[in-house]
Amino acid sequence: MKTQWLAACAAGLLAAGPASALEIRIDPAPVYVFDLSPERGLYDVVLQNILVVNDEADAVEVRGLRVELRKDGELLSAARVPAAKVAAMAGTFASLKEAGLLAMMDFQFHLSRLLEKGERLSADTVLDTGEVYLNASLHLSSAGLPDTARVIVEGPGGDLGYEDVPVSRYKSEVTYRSPVEGRWYVAASGDAEHHHRWVVSSEFALDLARLGPDMKSHEGDGSQLTDYRTFGAPVLAAADGVVVAAIRNRQDNQEMLRLAGEPFEAYMQRVMSLQQAIILEGGFDAAAGNYVLIAHANGEHSLYAHLKKESVRVKPGDIVRAGDPIGEAGSSGNSTEPHLHFQVIDGSDLNAARGLPVQFTGLRDDWYSMQHRHLRAGDVIEQE
Ligand SMILES: [Zn+2]
Repeated sequence: MKTQWLAACAAGLLAAGPASALEIRIDPAPVYVFDLSPERGLYDVVLQNILVVNDEADAVEVRGLRVELRKDGELLSAARVPAAKVAAMAGTFASLKEAGLLAMMDFQFHLSRLLEKGERLSADTVLDTGEVYLNASLHLSSAGLPDTARVIVEGPGGDLGYEDVPVSRYKSEVTYRSPVEGRWYVAASGDAEHHHRWVVSSEFALDLARLGPDMKSHEGDGSQLTDYRTFGAPVLAAADGVVVAAIRNRQDNQEMLRLAGEPFEAYMQRVMSLQQAIILEGGFDAAAGNYVLIAHANGEHSLYAHLKKESVRVKPGDIVRAGDPIGEAGSSGNSTEPHLHFQVIDGSDLNAARGLPVQFTGLRDDWYSMQHRHLRAGDVIEQE
């Protein structure tokens, strides 16, 4: 959608207005915040994909990108992508495309639906007619809950255009409980320092590991899957719903555990090549290993991933109630040690859906639950 003032600029109503107009697409939209501290009014957002499309007759140069978080029209905070970074990102996407990798990463960039006929990515900062600049993973935080993110494109002679996208703190109509019993550690969440946040479909996902009374995740030296307290622990439906997918016969990954005494760098190299192989061969679906997907009200779905081989006890069409056992935690798919990956998404297609922030009811009172904030890495949860 083009903004009104651009039309005004083009018509010469504003002095020194740019002669061309751009279209700006933001995906996914609206944008949802992750809590930093609701008590202090601190939030952060990630604008996953910003596409700047030149559909005018003349080439335009993108000299920078600004994003402003606003509330009631007032600026709360801003971030800027400078020209050098625009150039570097355009170059990165050009080489990904050349290597044939962009189609495989459609679960992230959604180019199959975001690009219209005849549009193509630019390899540099100059957008010829029909060329597109894709800016990925722009993060910013704010003091105050924003209601709008404004994306502004800068050119050589000033701003070339802007687009507003709504921002809110997501409120689900579905009531979720913890998908596990007992005391579990949140190993990763939607925190900006963890991997989930930068992937559209798992933006607010939780990685959960079971802890013993000693607060450790495993017994022994942790070199065997069966050392882990998570391995074989019951996984429960987090809300009432209908099972829409259940994958059950994929291997648990003993070979992705870190070997006793293995240097960290050597382990990372070894495990990263294993991870790449999984994703290149089978995409997001293979990365999830054995999983159950449950449909809830309003198109929301919950995903329970990396389940133990042959432990899944539900099938598509089954009606489940919150708290019903659906399988056991394992280490199948892209999993470096036994854990439950839990996420809520807005549809049933793992490659097209987006992750949604989730809050559990009935957790024992602790700092996060008293503050009514999103769970983050380091939290320990226990259902009442
Ligand atoms: Zn995960």
